[in-house]
Amino acid sequence: MTALVDAGLLADVQKFGAADVSACFSCGNCTAICPLSDNDGTFPRRLIRYAQVGMKDALLGSKELWTCYYCGECSDTCPTQADPGGFMAAARRYAIASYDRTHLARTMYTSPVLGSVFAILLAAFFALFMYSSHGAQSTQSLALFGFIPEGLIHNTGVAVMVLVFLAGLSGVVMMARGISRREGLSVRDVVGSRAALTRSIRALWVALGIESLGQRRYRVDCETVQETQPWYRRRWFIHAATMWGFLGLLAATILDYGLAVVGIKATGTPVPIWYPVRLLGTVAGIALIYGTSMLIVDRLRRSNRSASDSTAADWTLLALLWVTGVTGFLIELALYLPQAPAWGYWVFLFHVSVAMELVLLAPFMKFAHAVYRPVALFFYALAGDKSTDTENEPG
Ligand code: SF4
Ligand code: SF4
Repeated sequence: MTALVDAGLLADVQKFGAADVSACFSCGNCTAICPLSDNDGTFPRRLIRYAQVGMKDALLGSKELWTCYYCGECSDTCPTQADPGGFMAAARRYAIASYDRTHLARTMYTSPVLGSVFAILLAAFFALFMYSSHGAQSTQSLALFGFIPEGLIHNTGVAVMVLVFLAGLSGVVMMARGISRREGLSVRDVVGSRAALTRSIRALWVALGIESLGQRRYRVDCETVQETQPWYRRRWFIHAATMWGFLGLLAATILDYGLAVVGIKATGTPVPIWYPVRLLGTVAGIALIYGTSMLIVDRLRRSNRSASDSTAADWTLLALLWVTGVTGFLIELALYLPQAPAWGYWVFLFHVSVAMELVLLAPFMKFAHAVYRPVALFFYALAGDKSTDTENEPG
């Protein structure tokens, strides 16, 4: 198999925030200190080597790229200030941009002004589009779907989800093909036999359940790096609160529509605070606001290596998440006030516009790691499982 060399690879990754890693002489300090380094003793320096020699396909097809949680231990011990942790973060941004055929992700990451203007215009577009069909503002009770029609929100949401699904699927296919080529995995290895299927289901459980939702490596293996902090200020907890908060809000929104579809409760019907879907949305909203607020505070204070390394796209994502959470709460507050406040309608319009934008931009920002990381971890677990099985085969 021939590998094409991209002489501009290192310079290109640097556009995404990497330090100049050309001084790295593969001493191995980063490998020795990394809590996530595995047995072959080449992580993370092998990926730096790929960038140095222009092996683009190898870099993009490295499942290990996504196993790093940017604790920064390696950067603190690097004798040449090559900042390997920063390199890994930049390489992941580079990967997100490389899997995106529209080039929007590259613009968001490498042209901060253009990316920020685009984000503002997109929110304005959604707001104007929704407002163009607005109805009356009742002062008796907060009739949100009398102001912005439910059907319009639903149909726009479906269109946004379809676009996001297509963009995400195209990126995942590109990534999965790159990793399987490098790992020498075929479709048969994944689903070709009962043994392969069992391995794949195990790998899926590890990737999705244990690592992504349970955050095992982040929580346990990176723990030594975080142990001076109380539990509620640890990076894994803040990350988990943000992720679980977002997933909880998504689930509450889908369930709310689901209840309307089966005729149990029309969307927007007033319900008590303890109503299960409302309760789920409230708890998830608190988690999201806490997580994103802490992430913002940490970035402003530059509390750790990862928080010191912020791009405009990172700030845009955090702002969208935070605004979505806070405006959601304001709407909830407005719903329980005895008189319908006029501001409730405008907050609702703002909330819907920002939430639509957040979902639409997901494949083009750091949010995309929520999909790419589990896919890489699936291959990581599968490769480990396969080699264990091979070693155990009689022979
Ligand atoms: S990045 Fe730094 S610590 Fe890691 S191998 Fe290169 S020079 Fe050594
Ligand atoms: S940032 Fe942390 S997890 Fe990532 S390679 Fe460096 S030491 Fe390992």
